[in-house]
Amino acid sequence: TSLTNVKYYSFTNVFILVLSLLFKFIYTHWLQGKVALITGGASGIGESTARLFSRHGAKVVIADIQDNLGLSVCKDLSPTSASFVHCDVTNEKEVENAVNLAVATHGKLDIMFNNAGIAGEAKPHILDNDKTEFERVLNVNVVGAFLGTKHAARVMIPAGNGSIITTASVCSTVGGGASHAYTSSKHAVVGLARNAAVELGKYGIRVNCVSPYLVATPLAKDLFKLDDDGVSGVYSNLKGKVLNAEDVAEAALYLAGDESKYVSGHNLLVDGGFTVVNPSFGIF
Ligand code: NAD
Repeated sequence: TSLTNVKYYSFTNVFILVLSLLFKFIYTHWLQGKVALITGGASGIGESTARLFSRHGAKVVIADIQDNLGLSVCKDLSPTSASFVHCDVTNEKEVENAVNLAVATHGKLDIMFNNAGIAGEAKPHILDNDKTEFERVLNVNVVGAFLGTKHAARVMIPAGNGSIITTASVCSTVGGGASHAYTSSKHAVVGLARNAAVELGKYGIRVNCVSPYLVATPLAKDLFKLDDDGVSGVYSNLKGKVLNAEDVAEAALYLAGDESKYVSGHNLLVDGGFTVVNPSFGIF
């Protein structure tokens, strides 16, 4: 009987092990078989998202103007799961080419992440802001998202499926967080996503935004003159917690995958409640 017991226990152990491996595989492969194009994927939030999507089984194409950085992220991920394409999001031909490359390499495009963005110069006083700088920020942040949405839709419409996500910001819902150009651009991309969600819904395509609070990426460090640990000293509505690029990537993962199959036209704020704080109400 003791031999039977040993056999029984080892069978149970193997069964539990197989079950837990299967569970782990399913849990970490939310994007299995999906193809994602990520603009601004060489650094910061885009890079974290490329890594997370790839861990979840997606084929990832990184589109960026920082070729060496983008290539090194791809090298770090498996060559069969990640590739790089040089793409300036303000250039329609290059966006068109990036989308075509994703489809030529992997046969389809399931997820478009319009994430590339710039902060522009931090000049709070409107009289110090010139038209050229305002247009430069809107060109990357808004025109870039428009071109990404347009060319993703071009290949997603015939497929009757797809998820388009744009990185907006807390500056998409409140004023005073950044320059006039940046705040205008982030309000604009939410409008674009809502309009596109209305139009593209009939093709089964979902369009959403993810809106982070401050994350210590090169963009934010440059804008707010922060050091590596700089954001921990910045106001947070959630005490003891600091927002990382990975947290934003997790939100993008949700919007990218089938778990959010009925979510469209949404602006998902990842801000610890920052945008609903109103200091003029003092009851808390
Ligand atoms: P980042 O600087 O680390 O990454 C931005 C990436 O976009 C870079 O790799 C850059 O090369 C690329 N890029 C810039 N211009 C481009 C262009 N014309 N074409 C293609 N790629 C281009 O900064 P990040 O913080 O990861 O920014 C990603 C997105 O997140 C941006 O849209 C930004 O506005 C938004 N965002 C950032 C924060 C934050 O605190 N870091 C907060 C809210 C929203």
